[in-house]
Amino acid sequence: AKRAGGGDYAIFDASMREDAVGRLMLQTDLRQAVERDEFHLAYQPIVNPATGAIRSFEALLRWNHPTRGAISPADFIPVAEEIGLIRQIDRWVMREACAQLSGWQRRFANPDLKLSINTSSAAFAECGFVATLAEVLREFAIRPQSLELEITEGIFLHPSPEIAETIAAIRRLGVRVALDDFGTGYSSLSYINRYPIDTIKIDKSFIDGIGTNRQTRAIVELIVRLGDTLDLNIIAEGVETQEQTDMLMHIGCRAIQGYHFAEPLSARDAGERWHATTAS
Ligand code: C2E
Ligand code: CA
Ligand code: CA
Ligand code: CA
Repeated sequence: AKRAGGGDYAIFDASMREDAVGRLMLQTDLRQAVERDEFHLAYQPIVNPATGAIRSFEALLRWNHPTRGAISPADFIPVAEEIGLIRQIDRWVMREACAQLSGWQRRFANPDLKLSINTSSAAFAECGFVATLAEVLREFAIRPQSLELEITEGIFLHPSPEIAETIAAIRRLGVRVALDDFGTGYSSLSYINRYPIDTIKIDKSFIDGIGTNRQTRAIVELIVRLGDTLDLNIIAEGVETQEQTDMLMHIGCRAIQGYHFAEPLSARDAGERWHATTAS
């Protein structure tokens, strides 16, 4: 099972996703999960590799299935997308994350704490998405600057003027937009040329090879330089070793995320960790 905050994921039988009965069970359980409040968020620190200081957290969705245990979002989010439940889930994530953020900001009397949340393409493309976002920010009195939305290249699969307008509207609110899993899509470079993005998250598959593969290292270095030139924040994802951390610092990458520094944490642990690294 994959490692995750608060314990391992249940060993998810791949056949469940394939066979009809298994799928149906998962779909039924997923619908009930929303009603029965079986979701929670884990928070993974994004840190400055040179100092270890926490720059922000990424909120990651967790589903604690009543009998199966923890199921990975990589397994249930595609199903939620198929059955049209993802918009409801993403809205829940947005409210929950903002409630947590506002709680932390008040408790630590520090407005600098920042949070990233993941957004599926279906939720993002929904009309009213920006209005919902603005409403949630107001409800929890969140400074928009504290929030970043992570989108994936899947959003651009069906390019439309509305997508560009939605990104622009989000940024007009003051919320930043990050391009997740950068480098795994078909035309990553053309997207950052066409859409006003604030942050690029370099996919783990590039970070994996950074210590051993000269070509991979050159690509990561190029992305970091590009970020400097275009004023984009660059975050390296899935950093698991000190060797990778050293290499990224050498290249000039100023934000890393991965098990080497911290796994996704419970809200409580995340708050304490943040408080400990900022209170000095
Ligand atoms: P992602 O957005 O690319 O998130 C990063 C994933 O990598 C997380 O998996 C995280 O736990 C994991 N990770 C972090 N550091 C390391 C590391 O050093 N090594 C390895 N091997 N993995 C690392 P997680 O939490 O299982 O989430 C999987 C995917 O599910 C996410 O990938 C994202 O696409 C999706 N997801 C998670 N939460 C949400 C959500 O609230 N809404 C939506 N729409 N999607 C979500
Ligand atoms: Ca993400
Ligand atoms: Ca990612
Ligand atoms: Ca991913």
